[in-house]
Amino acid sequence: MDKLQENLARHMTEFCLRIGTRHVGATGEAAAANYIEQTFREYGYPTFRESYPVTGWNFESFEFYNVTRKRSVPAATACFFSNSVEVEGKLLWLKRKDLEHLTECSASGRICMLECWGGGVRTQNSIAEKLDSLGAAAAIFISDGAYTALAPNTKIQRSPFLKQLGTLAVAEEGAYDLASHKDDLYRIVIKAKCFPHTSCNIIARSDGTGGKVVLGAHYDTAPLIQGAYDNASGVAIILEIARLLKNRKPGVTLDFVAFGAEEYVTDKLNLGSGDYLERHGNDDLRWYVNFDGFGLLIGEPYIKISYPGYPEKTAGLQPVGIPMSYAGANGDGLVFYLAGIPTIAYCDSSPFNQLHTAKDSLDIIDYEKMAFGVLDAVELFKQIEKL
Ligand SMILES: [Zn+2]
Repeated sequence: MDKLQENLARHMTEFCLRIGTRHVGATGEAAAANYIEQTFREYGYPTFRESYPVTGWNFESFEFYNVTRKRSVPAATACFFSNSVEVEGKLLWLKRKDLEHLTECSASGRICMLECWGGGVRTQNSIAEKLDSLGAAAAIFISDGAYTALAPNTKIQRSPFLKQLGTLAVAEEGAYDLASHKDDLYRIVIKAKCFPHTSCNIIARSDGTGGKVVLGAHYDTAPLIQGAYDNASGVAIILEIARLLKNRKPGVTLDFVAFGAEEYVTDKLNLGSGDYLERHGNDDLRWYVNFDGFGLLIGEPYIKISYPGYPEKTAGLQPVGIPMSYAGANGDGLVFYLAGIPTIAYCDSSPFNQLHTAKDSLDIIDYEKMAFGVLDAVELFKQIEKL
């Protein structure tokens, strides 16, 4: 392994194994912020933080037990922002048609299993909020998707506005287990709580002239997972790009930004990148380059260019080693794109859907591929700086 790959491996091990889950409010979120700040400083950059309020979530423990069969329910998790709950009872099995008249379903104090899926997080959140207002004890959501037999998505439902409801998700294996034993007695114990919290972006700056280029990656994760691909990989990559560009020729001002609170997003824009743009939107921003999910052991890397209105400006860009195409922006790129700033995203597409599940771990990462992305981005930066 060369020095670049060694450094990438060190950052990834730190984020995924030593620190672990980095969701808003977790101790890992603060530990990751410290590590990023320290590393930027070690690499020779003046580094500072910018903070903003969020709802934090503290998670202690989770149990979903089939009392009748004396065993746990498989492939189950607590959902982001679940309240504490301790309840024992039979399932109140609800189908899609029941959602139209939930008030008549006697949900108060019950464990509600929802045999319905799709519609995105807003739909799931609004079901949770309705059941919460009806006094239900817990709601179990089906984690749908291409790769959910073993590991449920921990943010399939993520309303931060629930008063007492405990929320869970089950992957395929768990959902069938419940469906096969609908009349069993179940116990759910979740210890977790929401609280007012402050998250921050960490910014390393290299001053220059002629506008500013921003390279960003979010360092928070979906709850209760390593988040290797999403998005320890992106943060490790910008740390190493920063190291390699430290002694660059004089040029534009360069901000390396590790954003917080990307996974938090419900129906507003991502909080960390939104806060950055609010503060620095008038800084003559020339380009935004996003790193979110790169370096899969099995995956096809690609670069997405989003430039509303002015595609001709990107015509001079030559792919270095990774193919480029035009598309809309998402994640932290979205606020920049909506502000009219040309946005480039380094992506890696997976044949599986490990996103936001425990399957997103170091096991699916390839350091050689990550290093390839770092070197590609360094070369691409030299091009965009001249455009
Ligand atoms: Zn992400």
